[in-house]
Amino acid sequence: MNKKVFLFAITLGVTLFFAACNDDDTIAKPEITILELGEGDSHGNDHIAKVGGELHIEVEVVAEGKIDKVQVIIHPEGEHKSIIEHGEWELDTTYTKFSGLKNTTFHEHVDIADWAEPGEYHFDFIVTDMEGNQSSAESDIEIIEE
Ligand SMILES: [Zn+2]
Repeated sequence: MNKKVFLFAITLGVTLFFAACNDDDTIAKPEITILELGEGDSHGNDHIAKVGGELHIEVEVVAEGKIDKVQVIIHPEGEHKSIIEHGEWELDTTYTKFSGLKNTTFHEHVDIADWAEPGEYHFDFIVTDMEGNQSSAESDIEIIEE
């Protein structure tokens, strides 16, 4: 190998190396996989919870940019009515205890109020990472009379 070709090879190699590093700078948005949603008593996965009971939530989160906060929202399905006007049960909880983690299996139970109307509800799981990226996953759940 003569000197010129050798230098060219090095230059090419260095260029490719930096190009590869630049690609790595793009931090992937959090990945959310809902594993289980169900009754709190049995850690079920039938997407059903009871009025006055608990909803068991198990969700896999992978966040290359590290988790900042996790938000869980449950709201009645259908028309988005104002809670204040209609007095409907909704849940909006933000968890910060997973802050700084690159991945976690979120396992929490939330209380369903004993005055919640039975019916179809919508479950939203929103993860914001420390880079400001946000991802969400959603699912339908049913709240039934105890
Ligand atoms: Zn559970």
